[in-house]
Order: sequence, then C-alpha cells, then structure tokens
Amino acid sequence: HQRIEKRVKSGTPFFSLEFFPPKTGNGVANFITRLDRYRDGGPLFVDITWHLGSDPANLNKETSSSSIAAACLNYCRVDTMLHITGAQYSKRQTLGHLEQTKALGIRNILALRGDLHPSEDGPVVYQYRALDMIRWIREEYGDYFTVAASGYPLGHPEAPSYAADIRYLKDKVDAGAQFVITQLFFEPEVFEQFVRDCREAGITVPIIPGIMPIQSYESIRRIASLSGLTIPDAILKALEPIKENDEAVRSYGIHHAVEMCRRLLSNGSAPSIHLYTMNREGSCREILQTLGLWQQQNIRTLPWGSHCGQHPLR
Ligand code: FAD
Repeated sequence: HQRIEKRVKSGTPFFSLEFFPPKTGNGVANFITRLDRYRDGGPLFVDITWHLGSDPANLNKETSSSSIAAACLNYCRVDTMLHITGAQYSKRQTLGHLEQTKALGIRNILALRGDLHPSEDGPVVYQYRALDMIRWIREEYGDYFTVAASGYPLGHPEAPSYAADIRYLKDKVDAGAQFVITQLFFEPEVFEQFVRDCREAGITVPIIPGIMPIQSYESIRRIASLSGLTIPDAILKALEPIKENDEAVRSYGIHHAVEMCRRLLSNGSAPSIHLYTMNREGSCREILQTLGLWQQQNIRTLPWGSHCGQHPLR
C-alpha cells in the first residue's frame, strides 16, 4: 500500500473514479465485475460516496458505502477512498465511522459535511462542518489517514461569498486536508480561476477537478439543479437539438469532457482528473482512452508533453 497523497503530489497525471454504492445485491455483483475492468485502466484510486439515509456504515448490508469500499480495497485490490459525511452525526458516531474505516484497512477519506436534510422528528441536532471532522481525524489518528476535502469552483451555494468559501477551504487544508477534489463544473475557465484564487489565498495542495461527463440530457439537468449549478447557455444550445438522442448526447458529453480535461492537464491547472462515473462505464473509459490516461495505452505519447511518464502505480 502506497499513500495516495504521495502519488497525487508526484507530478504524474492520473485518474480517479467516483462511484455510488449499488442499490441491490445484483447491482453489487455487476459493480464488482465492472470495477475489475476499470482496474485494468490503472486508476490511482476509486472512491465511494456516502448517503445519509442509506445506512452507509452498516457492514451487515452488502450495499452500504463501507461494505462496498471494503470490497473495492480487499477484493478488487484497488486503492480506495471512502467519503464520510459528518453533519448529522454526533462526534462519537463519526469517530465510530472512522474507527471502522481503519479496521477495514481503508486509509483514505474524503471528509465532508454532507447536505443538511431537515429531520422529520424536529430540528437537526448536529451540524458539524467538514473542518470539524478533519480536525478530529488529525487529533485521533495523526497522519494515519490520507484526507481529502471538497472544493467548489463557483463557491458553495450556502457560502456567505465565493471569497469566504475559499477562506474556509484554506481552513480545511490547514487542519490537515492533503488535496482537494472539486465539485463538477462545465467550463475550464471556472476551474482555472478557482485554482488561481486558491493559490493566491495560500492553498498549496493539489486541486483535482471533478469532471462529470454529460451522459444524458435529463440527468445532467437534474444533477446541475441539485448541485445549485447553472448549465451554460452554449452547452444547452448544443444539447437542445439532440436532447432526444441519447447516443448523440453521450458523444457530445465525451467530446466536452475530453476538451476540458485536455486543456486543464496541458496548461498545468490540473494535476489529474477525477471522474464522476455515475456508475456507468462507457463514457469514462472512452474519455480516458482518448486522453491517453488509460493504462493499456502508451501514455508517453500524450499530446501535452513528455513529463507524463510511467503510471505511478506501475
Ligand atoms: P463544508 O466544507 O463543511 O462547508 C459547508 C458550508 O459551510 C459551505 O457553504 C462553507 O462555505 C460554509 N462554511 C465553512 N466554514 C464556515 C465558517 N467558519 N463560517 C461560516 N460558514 C462556513 N455529499 C454526500 O452526502 N455524500 C457524498 O459522498 C458526497 N460527496 C461529495 C464529493 C465531492 C467531491 C463534493 C464536491 C461534494 C460531495 N458531496 C457529498 C456534497 C457535499 O456534502 C455538500 O456539497 C455539502 O453541502 C457541503 O459539504 P462540504 O464538506 O463541502 O462542506
């Protein structure tokens, strides 16, 4: 086991893949098979999301986040990061989640607040921020875990301002977050500006762009709205005439993602690419192959220069 954060900082571009836990036992079996194929591509890590209300820490459920993350690491043998949210748990519960994560052998955590869902039984009691969890991790576990934090290229929707959100991100990094994975965005300039603003604010850790390939018209509209993001007019205009044609939308999504990633990698704003897979296989694989990041290709022929040598895992 090599520490992810060392490889994140190695200067060699890589990719990582985000999945949500499948909802059924059959889904788990399919997921494991798919992950085996993804592993051939050489991701630096995969990460598994955490959903309040789905019993994410329950190891008796094969579909829980913790069970899936353990399967990725211990069965599929791929480095794994587990998302953990803390807003609606007590400190004791969160420490329990961390302890269990350690016992499963997982050493990488994306520490998150999570969304604040109103409770049916009355007001939510705990509202810890991601910062609290990062501090607890460092207090209780020293540097045992590699810790990542989330960043928002357009500012978090609840932040008092974009500038304040960057200050809060710096607090997370100062507390021990070793790299940042961003919320999705649609325009490369948005990420480039965010990186410049973070650097100006003294955030020096790697900032990895979260890229969500557009896979269907309806889903991207829904996801954008849930994330408080506006899809730029140019993209809506391009999608409008093809919105009923899933294959055409998918092709557009691949092209759009490749163009963004190529630009961000070649101009040095992004050290690597984090793909929100939405548990689908085709688009992500095609994007990575086109970019030359898929392991089975000769990545030394990358269009953006000779610094991209051997994949860090090999
Ligand atoms: P925090 O960093 O804690 O920030 C929350 C808000 O508090 C922000 O508006 C921030 O500006 C503000 N804030 C911070 N400090 C202060 C302060 N001192 N004073 C005032 N305001 C302050 N959600 C899930 O439920 N499960 C997942 O698996 C998941 N994965 C994600 C992965 C990524 C890469 C990203 C970007 C998001 C993910 N989310 C996930 C969504 C995330 O939980 C929500 O966006 C949530 O609303 C914020 O979580 P956070 O950890 O980014 O918040």
